[in-house]
Amino acid sequence: MVRTALSDFVSLIFPRTCLACEQALSRGEQHICTPCRTALPYTD
Ligand SMILES: [Zn+2]
Repeated sequence: MVRTALSDFVSLIFPRTCLACEQALSRGEQHICTPCRTALPYTD
């Protein structure tokens, strides 16, 4: 239970999947995975 709550808490703050393709993100990636970022017209 604690582990589940902690996992939910963490995933709230750090969504671990890409917003575009819902693939799991690597460390250092935020919101969108690297392939999707490079595919986007803007890469900030
Ligand atoms: Zn992606």
